[in-house]
Amino acid sequence: MKKTRNTRQRVVILDILRESHEHPTAESIYREARRVLPNISLGTVYRNLNFLRDQGTVREIRPSEGGSSRFDGADIPHAHFHCVRCSALLDIPLPPVLGNLRFEEERISTVSLVDLHVIGSCTGCEGAATN
Ligand SMILES: [Zn+2]
Ligand SMILES: [Zn+2]
Repeated sequence: MKKTRNTRQRVVILDILRESHEHPTAESIYREARRVLPNISLGTVYRNLNFLRDQGTVREIRPSEGGSSRFDGADIPHAHFHCVRCSALLDIPLPPVLGNLRFEEERISTVSLVDLHVIGSCTGCEGAATN
Protein backbone atom coordinates (compact mmCIF):
# COMPACT_ATOMS: atom_id res chain seq x y z
CA MET A 1 0.00 0.00 0.00
CA LYS A 2 2.65 2.47 1.12
CA LYS A 3 4.91 1.39 -1.71
CA THR A 4 2.19 2.08 -4.30
CA ARG A 5 1.68 5.59 -2.97
CA ASN A 6 5.42 6.32 -3.03
CA THR A 7 5.72 5.06 -6.59
CA ARG A 8 2.79 7.23 -7.67
CA GLN A 9 4.42 10.33 -6.13
CA ARG A 10 7.66 9.57 -7.93
CA VAL A 11 5.87 9.10 -11.26
CA VAL A 12 4.04 12.44 -10.87
CA ILE A 13 7.28 14.27 -10.01
CA LEU A 14 9.12 12.69 -12.92
CA ASP A 15 6.27 13.57 -15.32
CA ILE A 16 6.42 17.22 -14.23
CA LEU A 17 10.18 17.25 -14.83
CA ARG A 18 9.97 15.54 -18.22
CA GLU A 19 7.32 17.99 -19.45
CA SER A 20 9.08 21.12 -18.22
CA HIS A 21 11.92 22.70 -20.15
CA GLU A 22 12.45 25.38 -17.54
CA HIS A 23 14.61 23.42 -15.08
CA PRO A 24 12.17 23.92 -12.21
CA THR A 25 13.17 24.27 -8.57
CA ALA A 26 11.87 21.81 -5.97
CA GLU A 27 9.36 24.48 -4.87
CA SER A 28 7.82 24.87 -8.31
CA ILE A 29 7.69 21.08 -8.78
CA TYR A 30 5.88 20.96 -5.43
CA ARG A 31 3.31 23.53 -6.59
CA GLU A 32 2.67 21.52 -9.79
CA ALA A 33 2.54 18.18 -7.96
CA ARG A 34 -0.08 19.47 -5.52
CA ARG A 35 -2.55 19.88 -8.36
CA VAL A 36 -2.45 16.11 -8.87
CA LEU A 37 -1.63 15.00 -5.31
CA PRO A 38 -3.11 17.61 -2.94
CA ASN A 39 -1.58 15.96 0.16
CA ILE A 40 2.01 15.79 -1.04
CA SER A 41 4.50 17.68 1.14
CA LEU A 42 7.55 19.68 0.10
CA GLY A 43 9.68 17.23 2.10
CA THR A 44 8.33 14.34 0.02
CA VAL A 45 9.16 16.22 -3.18
CA TYR A 46 12.74 16.77 -1.96
CA ARG A 47 13.08 13.12 -0.90
CA ASN A 48 11.91 11.90 -4.31
CA LEU A 49 14.14 14.35 -6.18
CA ASN A 50 17.15 13.20 -4.16
CA PHE A 51 16.26 9.58 -4.86
CA LEU A 52 15.87 10.20 -8.61
CA ARG A 53 19.12 12.17 -8.67
CA ASP A 54 21.07 9.45 -6.85
CA GLN A 55 19.60 6.94 -9.28
CA GLY A 56 20.82 9.05 -12.22
CA THR A 57 17.28 9.65 -13.57
CA VAL A 58 17.30 13.40 -12.99
CA ARG A 59 20.11 15.93 -12.77
CA GLU A 60 20.44 18.52 -10.05
CA ILE A 61 21.88 21.80 -11.29
CA ARG A 62 23.33 24.20 -8.77
CA PRO A 63 23.24 27.67 -10.30
CA SER A 64 26.67 29.30 -10.40
CA GLU A 65 25.11 32.51 -9.09
CA GLY A 66 23.72 30.69 -6.04
CA GLY A 67 20.09 30.19 -5.06
CA SER A 68 17.91 27.09 -5.21
CA SER A 69 18.96 24.00 -7.11
CA ARG A 70 17.17 23.42 -10.40
CA PHE A 71 16.19 19.99 -11.67
CA ASP A 72 16.37 18.45 -15.11
CA GLY A 73 14.52 15.32 -16.21
CA ALA A 74 15.66 15.23 -19.83
CA ASP A 75 17.16 11.89 -20.79
CA ILE A 76 19.01 13.30 -23.80
CA PRO A 77 22.59 14.32 -22.98
CA HIS A 78 23.05 18.08 -23.13
CA ALA A 79 25.08 20.89 -21.61
CA HIS A 80 23.84 23.96 -19.73
CA PHE A 81 24.38 27.62 -20.42
CA HIS A 82 24.00 30.01 -17.47
CA CYS A 83 23.47 33.70 -18.19
CA VAL A 84 25.18 35.69 -15.45
CA ARG A 85 22.90 38.70 -16.08
CA CYS A 86 19.36 37.32 -16.17
CA SER A 87 20.03 33.92 -14.53
CA ALA A 88 18.55 32.10 -17.54
CA LEU A 89 19.46 28.41 -17.62
CA LEU A 90 19.40 27.08 -21.18
CA ASP A 91 19.87 23.62 -22.63
CA ILE A 92 22.58 23.61 -25.27
CA PRO A 93 23.86 20.69 -27.35
CA LEU A 94 26.86 18.91 -25.98
CA PRO A 95 29.77 19.52 -28.38
CA PRO A 96 30.25 16.23 -30.32
CA VAL A 97 33.91 16.08 -29.31
CA LEU A 98 32.80 15.46 -25.72
CA GLY A 99 31.08 12.23 -26.77
CA ASN A 100 34.47 10.73 -27.58
CA LEU A 101 36.37 11.98 -24.57
CA ARG A 102 38.99 9.62 -23.27
CA PHE A 103 40.55 10.26 -19.92
CA GLU A 104 44.11 9.14 -19.43
CA GLU A 105 43.35 8.62 -15.80
CA GLU A 106 43.77 5.26 -14.15
CA ARG A 107 41.63 6.23 -11.16
CA ILE A 108 38.52 6.42 -13.43
CA SER A 109 36.88 3.11 -14.22
CA THR A 110 33.81 4.24 -16.23
CA VAL A 111 32.31 7.64 -17.11
CA SER A 112 28.51 7.87 -17.06
CA LEU A 113 28.10 11.61 -17.62
CA VAL A 114 30.13 14.64 -18.59
CA ASP A 115 28.42 17.58 -16.90
CA LEU A 116 29.32 20.73 -18.83
CA HIS A 117 28.30 24.18 -17.66
CA VAL A 118 28.96 27.19 -19.86
CA ILE A 119 28.79 30.59 -18.17
CA GLY A 120 28.29 33.90 -20.00
CA SER A 121 25.72 36.39 -21.27
CA CYS A 122 22.73 35.40 -23.40
CA THR A 123 21.96 37.28 -26.65
CA GLY A 124 18.97 38.99 -25.05
CA CYS A 125 21.12 40.50 -22.27
CA GLU A 126 24.03 41.30 -24.59
CA GLY A 127 21.69 43.17 -26.95
CA ALA A 128 20.12 45.14 -24.10
CA ALA A 129 23.57 46.18 -22.85
CA THR A 130 24.86 47.51 -26.19
CA ASN A 131 21.69 49.41 -27.21
ZN1 LIG B 1 20.49 36.82 -20.06
ZN1 LIG C 1 18.86 20.82 -19.04
